[in-house]
Amino acid sequence: MIDIDWKNLAFGYVKTDYNVRCYYRNGQWGELEVSSSEEIPMHMAATCLHYGQEAFEGLKAFRGKDNKIRLFRIDENAKRLQASCAGIMMAEFPIEKFKEAVRKVVKLNERFIPPYGTGASLYIRPLVIGTGAQVGVKPASEYLFVVFVTPVGPYFKGGFKTTPFVITRKYDRAAPLGTGTFKIGGNYAASLRAGQEAAKGGYSNVFYLDAIEKKYIDECGAANFFGVKNNTYITPKSNSILPSITNKSLLQLAEHLGMKVERRPIALEELETFEEAGACGTAAVISPIGYIDDLDNNKRYTFSKDGEPGPWSTKLFKLLQGIQYGEEKDVFNWCEIL
Ligand SMILES: *Cc1c(COP(=O)(O)O)cnc(C)c1O
Repeated sequence: MIDIDWKNLAFGYVKTDYNVRCYYRNGQWGELEVSSSEEIPMHMAATCLHYGQEAFEGLKAFRGKDNKIRLFRIDENAKRLQASCAGIMMAEFPIEKFKEAVRKVVKLNERFIPPYGTGASLYIRPLVIGTGAQVGVKPASEYLFVVFVTPVGPYFKGGFKTTPFVITRKYDRAAPLGTGTFKIGGNYAASLRAGQEAAKGGYSNVFYLDAIEKKYIDECGAANFFGVKNNTYITPKSNSILPSITNKSLLQLAEHLGMKVERRPIALEELETFEEAGACGTAAVISPIGYIDDLDNNKRYTFSKDGEPGPWSTKLFKLLQGIQYGEEKDVFNWCEIL
């Protein structure tokens, strides 16, 4: 047994035994290779270092109630990685190879999958980088796919609770015709200053508005936004947000639970009318929002008076997490059992 304090594990990097790699050379992807090295030897003129040819994914493997290992919607991550690669002109990694690589890296590191009941899980990080040397601004001709895993602790250490968010008008994460819909490192670099300012102010996350008019809700940090009112789950439609697989799943579950669902532009003032609000993504599933401060206008939008998450957020969170841990019926066949 490995000596890890699963319940107090942070969201950080823990060395595991193996990673899986694949090289794109001469116009094609090679065979999957298993490596125990944490390093990537690379040419100093690689396009990922200069021109941001880098895309990644984030998904999780769970040790279920029945002790089985579950992977959640990996075909969705495979497809999104392809879209991200195409978006920044990198070679697209084949869907079946992606699934094979993820299964392989999870199995090889099985001893790092946290036990059921700890709330912890195995985070899986696939990435594609341009490794070919290039000084002119154009796509590389060589790429590397790597997938590694790292055990991560429960997102909510003190239980499922709301946290405060803050609106920024000083920074944009992505532009409407830019790369916001792709999961690429460049968008994260663009978000670091806003994230740091929010953290300094004591907020857990930053809330972005649309880049053109600053009138509509875009995303919160690296998570999608949703609001709830009149038994309706409402999430923004925008061409600068990342299509979250968690959000897509919550939309389906909300309908399944009898809610109405809407994906449409949400004006900032509409925040006033929501009974519940949350941020969603793989890391937390749902991070319920207590209030959102608009410091420029001295305004606070409050969604929880006592810090407790609302009933729909709680129900959706429990159902999705329950499916991932094999406690609830997997009604939409999302989990693959390894
Ligand atoms: C990864 C990510 C999300 C969440 O997507 P999931 O598939 O639900 O994990 C949301 N927004 C951004 C910007 C992201 O990078």
